[in-house]
Order: sequence, then structure tokens, then C-alpha cells
Amino acid sequence: MASLLVRVRLDWSDSTHYDPDRSLPCRVCATVTTMRDGRGDACHQSCAEDEIARELLGASLARVVDERVLR
Ligand SMILES: [Zn+2]
Repeated sequence: MASLLVRVRLDWSDSTHYDPDRSLPCRVCATVTTMRDGRGDACHQSCAEDEIARELLGASLARVVDERVLR
């Protein structure tokens, strides 16, 4: 069985990822935040990073399984 570790680090230093005027519930964990994702939705940076890491991990594990199938 393969073991994979996926870490995602986003660069959210751009001011578009921060709205100091409005705290809204994070779309992932529902805790309020002033951070915004690339679409402008309220989201913690760490939540967005974890979300992408989970997607990459799932896709990667599926690929490993596919390549192990005997033909
Ligand atoms: Zn969050």
C-alpha cells in the first residue's frame, strides 16, 4: 500500500484575500473570518490549503491504485 503526504501552501499575501470590513462564516469550517478565497468567498487560508490537499491526495491515491491493476 502506498503512503502519500500532500501539503499545500497558498500565497495569500495579496490584499484581495483579506476583507477587514466584514467577517463572514468560512465556507469550509463555518468559523467567521475576514479571509477570502480566489473566488471572493469567505475562507481561512488553512481551510483552503487543506481542501486542495485532500483533493490532490484523493486523486493521487486513485492514480496509484489504477497503476497497480494487473492487465
Ligand atoms: Zn475555515
